[in-house]
Amino acid sequence: MDDPNAHAQADRGEADRDWVARSLKAVWHPCTQMKHHERLPLVPVARGKGAWLYDREGRRYLDAISSWWVNLFGHANDDINAALKAQLDTLEHAMLAGCTHEGAVELAERLSALTDGTLGHAFFASDGASAVEIALKMSFHYWRNRGRAEKREFVCVANGYHGETIGALGVTDVALFRTAYDPLIRPAHIVASPDARRAEPGESARDVALRALEDVQALFEAQASRIAALIVEPLVQCAAGMAMHDAAYVTGLRKLCDDYDVHLIADEIAVGCGRTGAFFACEPAGIWPDFLCLSKGISGGYLPLSLVLSRDEIYFAFYDDDTARGFLHSHSYTGNPLACRAALATLDLFERDDVLVRNATKAAMLMEALSPLRSHEAVRHLRRTGTIIAFDAAIEGDAARTFSRRFFEHALSRELLLRPIGTTVYLMPPYILDSETIALLASRTCETFDATLADGAR
Ligand SMILES: *Cc1c(COP(=O)(O)O)cnc(C)c1O
Repeated sequence: MDDPNAHAQADRGEADRDWVARSLKAVWHPCTQMKHHERLPLVPVARGKGAWLYDREGRRYLDAISSWWVNLFGHANDDINAALKAQLDTLEHAMLAGCTHEGAVELAERLSALTDGTLGHAFFASDGASAVEIALKMSFHYWRNRGRAEKREFVCVANGYHGETIGALGVTDVALFRTAYDPLIRPAHIVASPDARRAEPGESARDVALRALEDVQALFEAQASRIAALIVEPLVQCAAGMAMHDAAYVTGLRKLCDDYDVHLIADEIAVGCGRTGAFFACEPAGIWPDFLCLSKGISGGYLPLSLVLSRDEIYFAFYDDDTARGFLHSHSYTGNPLACRAALATLDLFERDDVLVRNATKAAMLMEALSPLRSHEAVRHLRRTGTIIAFDAAIEGDAARTFSRRFFEHALSRELLLRPIGTTVYLMPPYILDSETIALLASRTCETFDATLADGAR
């Protein structure tokens, strides 16, 4: 086929159509069955400003999912741009083995301070999945250095997501991403999800959390001597479809991990940096993990950057005259100075603009504006944690199978960039929406939902 995207791009101008056609010839797009683009539009992004992305004809799309959950303060943000431009003229990159630079030092110090000094050592990498791999390797290696090499198994939570590399897939419980690679993967123990939607009649979200903890306790009771770590996405399992749980689950995990000598890894790649209300998602649970993984929003959505923060006790289990007891992991762009500068500028914005307090008001406004959905007969579980809002479409069969793609198209025609996960619609916008844009986002989300239901399955 000459132009596989011809149908979906029919109403675009020539320049945009050309970029789309070239992309479909040359680029293998992520997380996509490419054949779907015979119908599904590919959005040619020419530039971004604030919460909006624009094509060449000036058509605009509200980036209501923060470009896959990474963007916090808008596209082409003036403050982050200025910081990056200055950094570019100072130092673009230097290796972080044998060398150091201001950005890495300051970022490690400031993140440590945000954990009250509890997680005092930052190990840098580039993507979220590599941070997860690092935390898993560090945990295993810690126990080995402590003479307990038999602790080599991992535990993850049902429906949890921790990235797509082979090690990270081992602790990911999303069949669609994982099944094809099962023969390559070292499986982990999977414990019950604390998803509040699983509440039985009369049960609270907290009750579901406590019930899920019993599953962890039973596993630890039987097998903790072989378990190195449990990994969890605190408060919201995002890729599972914004499955939210009570903070009591995370508090309970900390206690069980302490009681049974198991590390707790908090994967805050998606939920960190203010998404759930506090800066770190572990804060409402009143605990700190042994390892905390950060990525996505930490660079403001500008550059690939991830970090694993860990406790002194972990760090000093590697500190030795013997080279092999050290953590000899690395990536070429580890601690890239531009990425660190973007992160420091991002942290500056949190401080300068009192972001967490303002977010609480904005998120409540958005939720209020979506209240017509509360009485919608096809809406289930309208829910919110911090700045993340989601609801489920009560539909079945073909209509459910094609819901996400049809919703995406209807959203685009209403200037919204939204990509439901299965039948879960979610909003995770940047932190900079004004009240007018919040109202627009809410009303058009409702319109999009109705239009998607109305066109049934195709
Ligand atoms: C996105 C994500 C990852 C993987 O990060 P990448 O940068 O895509 O490798 C891991 N864990 C969670 C919870 C995520 O949301």
